[in-house]
Amino acid sequence: MGPVIRVDPIIVCVDCGGRAHLLSYEPHEGWEDGDVAAYRCEDCLDRWDIVLEDDDADVDWSERG
Ligand SMILES: [Zn+2]
Repeated sequence: MGPVIRVDPIIVCVDCGGRAHLLSYEPHEGWEDGDVAAYRCEDCLDRWDIVLEDDDADVDWSERG
């Protein structure tokens, strides 16, 4: 099993500073690195697709470059 990531139900819209609500439902096994969470801003109605990254994940530097 991969690491489980916490996703904020509401984020701040980068465009207008309004509140963007999470549209996506959490997968049964929880969010994982690389999943995409979609948000909709309640003010400007823009959609934001956030690619989730686990900051605590081990990085395999050997795959670099
Ligand atoms: Zn907005």
